[in-house]
Amino acid sequence: MVEQRYAGYAVIDSRSRGRQHAEAPPKARSEFQRDRDRIIHSTAFRRLEYKTQVFVNHEGDLFRTRLTHSIEVAQIARSVARALCLNDDLVEAIALAHDLGHTPFGHAGQEALDACMKDHGGFEHNLQSLRTVDLLEERYGAFDGLNLMYETREGILKHCPPAKALQLGDLGRRFLDERRPSLEAQLTNLADEIAYNNHDVDDGLRSGLIDESMLEGVSLYARHAAAAREEFPAISGRRLVSETVRRMIGALVEDLLEESGRRIREAGVATLADVHVAPPLIGFSPAMQAENRELKTFLRENLYRHYQVLRMTNKARRIIGELFDAFTATPRLLPPQYQQMADRDACDPVNAVAAPAVRARAVADYIAGMTDRYAIKEHRRLFGVGEID
Ligand code: MG
Repeated sequence: MVEQRYAGYAVIDSRSRGRQHAEAPPKARSEFQRDRDRIIHSTAFRRLEYKTQVFVNHEGDLFRTRLTHSIEVAQIARSVARALCLNDDLVEAIALAHDLGHTPFGHAGQEALDACMKDHGGFEHNLQSLRTVDLLEERYGAFDGLNLMYETREGILKHCPPAKALQLGDLGRRFLDERRPSLEAQLTNLADEIAYNNHDVDDGLRSGLIDESMLEGVSLYARHAAAAREEFPAISGRRLVSETVRRMIGALVEDLLEESGRRIREAGVATLADVHVAPPLIGFSPAMQAENRELKTFLRENLYRHYQVLRMTNKARRIIGELFDAFTATPRLLPPQYQQMADRDACDPVNAVAAPAVRARAVADYIAGMTDRYAIKEHRRLFGVGEID
């Protein structure tokens, strides 16, 4: 009954490839509602509150965190999903889980940990999000991880290099065969982009690292700021910024809806199987794509590479690198749970050769799970002079 509101090309419970460990169907929810609920109750989800994207957590209470970012992604994805008759529970689950594998300190943290792991398979936050829901959460008696539905996991794994895809079996197959994921996965990916571009404009202005006059050269911003001023001639300050960003999100969402609806109709997709072999069907119109690219370039050059942001990322890189080196050199400094993970194969003569990689992965799991403030605190505990605890 619930499934009637979904199109034939949407993912629904009865067309799903299910869970890795068989479970009885939920009584009063759909399978994807159950996934969303499991994600919300996970430890990694709660930690998103103290992880950041661009600004470090303690820099201000008003900036986005990964938690509020994930909620914004879910909001945007859900509204588009409803309009396109896609599975809104699935997009919500993917959106809330998509950043679970992020390290502390945003992209600087990810790059630093990837560099530390270069001899041991690297570190990639997308794969780590999947690893978190598949393996690292310890909440259920019957299995490790959250045992999520195949399509939720497919949506979390946005990209994947071929070598990793081979190791992932069924879930990695589509990267080798160049098959498309569900429309729900495609949509959540773009909702992520709409959310972060716009909230980075908002947070960037709030922080003072960029100002409105700089954004006058970005057509998407300039156009909507002008429209806001025309409708409300007396508007200024934060209210003008909010009115402009609101309109930008609205324009991007409307364009996405229109363009995706057109592509879906023209491709004539009727089933989920059609979606997998069709070209990407969720996307912006070429004109909006160009404006969106212009905005991204602006943010990269003026905000993400701002010297004050770079100072912070430089420090973050050092913290992550030093934590990694200390823990891999002396695994006994790790909390017991991670020591066990680090030692897992060391006592097994057959796998002993893999021990350094196993140890490094356990350290990476520990560091990736840290919040910004926990990483700073842990660094101080290990290296702080004049502080022994
Ligand atoms: Mg994101």
